Amino acid sequence: MLDLDGNLVEGDKRPSSDTPTHLEIYRNYPKIKSIVHTHSIFATAFAQALKEIECFGTTPADHFFGKVPVTRKLLKEEIVKDYEANTGKVILETLEEKMINPLQVPACLVANHGPFVFGNSPENAIQNAVVLEQVAKTNIETLKINPETKAIDRSLLDKHFLRKHGKNAYYGQRLP
Ligand SMILES: [Zn+2]
Repeated sequence: MLDLDGNLVEGDKRPSSDTPTHLEIYRNYPKIKSIVHTHSIFATAFAQALKEIECFGTTPADHFFGKVPVTRKLLKEEIVKDYEANTGKVILETLEEKMINPLQVPACLVANHGPFVFGNSPENAIQNAVVLEQVAKTNIETLKINPETKAIDRSLLDKHFLRKHGKNAYYGQRLP
């Protein structure tokens, strides 16, 4: 286990080489408690195509309050030096530029790389990563049927996301 400066505070294994990417995000968004990074096929396909994952239906709307963004490509100098930290920085830049709250849209595709998925707990981040992959796969099928498919209507997006995550959330089990 590492602290937010990247110092080893527990265990004796070498930390992941992706550590600087994760630290950039944790330092800037204290409410993100867990980050899952995968190279899952369908979400990665969107990252490689430099395409956002649009919200077409209620499955994504239950978890993602709008489309999942994709970063710009890293510049040559950002790749040569401090690549992992710059990967974190380009995620932060994308969230800021697109004014995305990463707890409401808890994922970002890094261009030519793959998804980084966020959560308020490890379980939540893993669930979001699994849903994202399913959504990416379904979007590819949807776009095959109709390449002109439009985003879900705002009212339906609001209904599905906010009944689970809004301050008046009512869907699912309530904590006692
Ligand atoms: Zn990776």
